[in-house]
Amino acid sequence: MTSLMWFRRDLRLGDNPAVTAAHEYCAGDGVVGLFVVDPALEAASGPVRREWLRRSLLELNNQLGGNLLILRGSPLEIVDQVAEKFGVDQVFIGRDFGNYGRQRDLAVSDRLAARGVALRQVGSPYAVDPGSVTKADGTRYLVYTPFYKAWLAHGYPTPSPIDLEGLVWVDPAKEPATKQLLDIQLTHLQSPVCDVDLPPVGEIAALDRWQSFRDGPLAEYDNDRNRPDLDGTSNLSAYLRWGQIHPRTVLADLEGPIANATTKGPEVFRREIAWREFYAEVLTANPSSIRKSLDRRYDNALEMNWGPSAEDNFAAWCDGRTGFPFVDAGMRQLRATGWMHNRVRMVAASFLVKGLHLPWQRGAAEFMYWLRDGDSASNQHGWQWVAGCGTDAAPFHRIFNPVLQGRKFDPDGDYVRRWIPELRGLPGASAHEPWKLASTLDGQPSSDYPAPIIDHLAERGEALARFAALPKKGD
Ligand SMILES: Cc1cc2nc3c(=O)[nH]c(=O)nc-3n(C[C@H](O)[C@H](O)[C@H](O)COP(=O)(O)OP(=O)(O)OC[C@H]3O[C@@H](n4cnc5c(N)ncnc54)[C@H](O)[C@@H]3O)c2cc1C
Repeated sequence: MTSLMWFRRDLRLGDNPAVTAAHEYCAGDGVVGLFVVDPALEAASGPVRREWLRRSLLELNNQLGGNLLILRGSPLEIVDQVAEKFGVDQVFIGRDFGNYGRQRDLAVSDRLAARGVALRQVGSPYAVDPGSVTKADGTRYLVYTPFYKAWLAHGYPTPSPIDLEGLVWVDPAKEPATKQLLDIQLTHLQSPVCDVDLPPVGEIAALDRWQSFRDGPLAEYDNDRNRPDLDGTSNLSAYLRWGQIHPRTVLADLEGPIANATTKGPEVFRREIAWREFYAEVLTANPSSIRKSLDRRYDNALEMNWGPSAEDNFAAWCDGRTGFPFVDAGMRQLRATGWMHNRVRMVAASFLVKGLHLPWQRGAAEFMYWLRDGDSASNQHGWQWVAGCGTDAAPFHRIFNPVLQGRKFDPDGDYVRRWIPELRGLPGASAHEPWKLASTLDGQPSSDYPAPIIDHLAERGEALARFAALPKKGD
C-alpha cells in the first residue's frame, strides 16, 4: 500500500529513518513525498529563512525526481486530505520536539486516527532524543556539563543504513485534484523571496560543507572558533536546523580516525553539537522557557525601567547603528546573510540586555526572524545564557565589553570593516573604537557612522545594580 512521507525538519533522504520506514512499509507501492508550507511558521520567518526554505524545497524536489508535493495551508487539513486522496493508512514523520510542532503533531495524529490512519514518528533531529538522558533520580538536567557527561555515556546510534533501492516516489500529478495545485506551487517556488547571497542548500551541499570543514578547519576549531574574521566554524547550523544533515553523521565521523587527532578541535566540536542537544532537552522539559526566563526572578527585573530611549535604542541595535562596531557588524551580517558568528551573537545579545536593559525576549524575537538557522531551543536558551537567567550557573554579572571583545576576537578589525563600509578607511584594530580617531581624522571617521548610543561603562554599572536588587534565590 502507498505510504506518505511528510517532510518537515528533515529535508534529506540519506540517514533518514522516517523515509526508510515509509519505503519499507509501502513494499514497492510507492511513497508520496509531502511538504506543507505552514502560514503560522512562515509568518515568524524573515525573508532569508524563507528563501533558504524555498531553495531547499526545490533541491529536495529534484532529489525526489520532481515528485515532492508542496502545499501551503494548515497541516491539520492538508495532511488529512492528502492521506485520503492517495488512500494511505500510514503517514511517516520525524519526531518534532518543539512546542508548536508537538502540539501540531498531536492534533494531526488525532485527526488521522479518526479515519483509521496512523501517524508514525520515526527518528528525530537529535542524536539522543530529549528525555532520554536524565539524572539518577529521574529528573531532567539543567546544567550543561553533567548533561554532556551523561549524554556521552548514553551514546548515540551510528547513521541509519541507507537502503533506498527500489524506492518509488509517487507522482502527485497522477491525482487530478493535485495536478493544478502542483503547477501553482512550482510557479510560486520559482520566484525568489529576496535577493540574498546564500551558500548552496540541500543535503548534498550539507555533506560537502561538512567534509570540507572536517578535513580542514576542524583541526584548529578549538583555537579559531571564536574568531569571526576567520572561516573557523562549520557553518552547519542551518543545514542541521533543516535536517539536511543529521548530527549522527557528524558525530560518527568524529569517532573515526579523526578521534586520534593531536588537536582538541574534534572534541571541542562534539561539545558544541551537544549544546544543541542540551538546549532541546531543556526546552522540552520546560516548555514555558520559550517565552519566560528559566529563572523567573529576572523577568521582572529585565522588564522594568526601559527608559524613554528604549524604542530608539532597540531600532539602532536592530539596524546595526549603535556606534559599537563589533555589535553593529554582527547585526548587519545577520540581516545580510541570515547568519551571525557565535561570539558576535553573544556580544550583541549581551549589549541588548545589559547595555540597553531591554528584555532578552525582544532580542530573541529579532534573531529568530532573521536567522536561517533560527531554532527555538538554541535561540531562546542562547539568549537566556547570555542574559544570565537560563541554564548556566554563570551569572548575570558577566557583561561582555564590545570593544575589548572586538579587539580580542577580531584583532585586525577585518570583520568589522567587512560589514561596516563606513569604517573601511580605519586601519587595523582602530576600527573597533572609531570615536578615538575622530580628532585625528578631522571629524568622525565617516559622517554616516553613528557615535556610541550609550556609555557602556555607566550602563554596566546600572546592569549590576539591577542584578544586586534581585530577590535572592528562594526568597
Ligand atoms: C544569543 C544566541 C542565539 C543563538 N541562536 C541560535 C539559533 O537560533 N540556532 C542555532 O542553531 N544556534 C543558535 N545559537 C548558537 C550558535 O551561535 C550557532 O549554532 C552557531 O553560531 C552556528 O554556526 P556554526 O554552524 O558555524 O557553528 P559551529 O561552531 O561550527 O558549531 C557546530 C554546531 O554546533 C551547534 N552549536 C554550536 N554552538 C552552539 C550553542 N551555543 N548553542 C546551541 N548549539 C550550538 C550548532 O548546531 C552548530 O551548527 C545562538 C547563540 C546565541 C549566543
